[in-house]
Amino acid sequence: MNIEEIRKEFPILHQQVNGKPLVYFDNAATSQKPQSVIDALTHYYNTDNANIHRGIHTLAERSTTAFENTRKAVAKFLNSREVEEIIFTKGTTEGINLVAATFGRKFIKDGDEIIISALEHHSNIVPWQILCEENGCTLKVIPVNDKGELLMDEYDKLLSDKTKLVSVNYISNALGTINPVKEIIDKAHKVGAKVLIDAAQAAPHATLDVQALDCDFLAFSAHKVYGPTGVGALYGKRDLLEAMPPYQGGGEMIKDVSFSGTTYNDIPYKFEAGTPNIGEVIALKAALDFVNELGLENIAAYEHELLEYANELLADVDGFIPVGTADNKASVISFLIEGVHPFDLGQILDAKGIAVRTGHHCAQPLMERFQIEGTVRASFSVYNTKEEIKYFVEALKAAIKMFK
Ligand code: PMP
Repeated sequence: MNIEEIRKEFPILHQQVNGKPLVYFDNAATSQKPQSVIDALTHYYNTDNANIHRGIHTLAERSTTAFENTRKAVAKFLNSREVEEIIFTKGTTEGINLVAATFGRKFIKDGDEIIISALEHHSNIVPWQILCEENGCTLKVIPVNDKGELLMDEYDKLLSDKTKLVSVNYISNALGTINPVKEIIDKAHKVGAKVLIDAAQAAPHATLDVQALDCDFLAFSAHKVYGPTGVGALYGKRDLLEAMPPYQGGGEMIKDVSFSGTTYNDIPYKFEAGTPNIGEVIALKAALDFVNELGLENIAAYEHELLEYANELLADVDGFIPVGTADNKASVISFLIEGVHPFDLGQILDAKGIAVRTGHHCAQPLMERFQIEGTVRASFSVYNTKEEIKYFVEALKAAIKMFK
């Protein structure tokens, strides 16, 4: 892969921030967008903008075709058996909430159990807490070891015929741990539980194959995989989606409405009430094309190289404390520097043009597990370079010197 050529496709990277060239290491929060994605968005608004489905005029037909082409592209990206198993959402958060509010409300009852893990983002915790409060089911949590890896023996102990759903992330946003999701799914199925995979962090770094995984649901966000914000997709197995009640009521999700009753549309439309983010959905296809052209395996291999290089340089940094040292990790480094508050470090790095994230990363229970308030997180993407990592580590060393 020619990284310099790839960088040229990202206009945002070529700017100075606080008088220094931008080093963007906040990719786990959101990735930057290639020109092709920006062009797809502007092309839609410049030439095709119309509401989709039902319209018979040319613009409506063009918009509808482009919109549905993204659905086909997502189906291919996830290797779903059927295109109808792909529902457009606002993002991972909405995908998980949709499953909680529909599958959860209908099929999970008082006395049943839901298993999540200690590594979850708040959006894979709170929807289940809300459901538990509503219907009396119980939330169980797979703990982690000191390296931030799931304790699979404990998972085995939590599973029982009470387990109705297991909902875990594929890759942790806070620590970068890559979880053994296939094993988690197979074990859950043995007790008859369904499984939702939060693939928000996995989509940009790991090949996703819902048939090989045999997960029941999988959610991801476009904006973490070089696409626009406000769009995501939820995969669900056809039989489950058909058995689930609708999520929201409104246009698009109905077949017929009368005051004596309403019949619902077929999947996926049953779950897509209201006018969606049409332009953003269309631009998601350009993002997936970008990823497919490079190949996710190549992207992941390069990012791993960056991760190893960063680990090597950071080992030499005074007071460096890594948080989360799993054997199987994506290109995320969460860390602390002895005696320096993460927020202060973040500010000093920003003054040098380096964007990192500081804080709890929407994973407060995980921070509590490590008895910390938060970390500094540097997360790498395909357009990052070893030179940037070197510059970052030098800036870090200079900051530490200043604080000591
Ligand atoms: N899960 C994980 C693992 C995440 O990293 C994120 C985003 N940080 C989410 C869920 C929520 O994604 P979104 O905000 O795009 O809905």
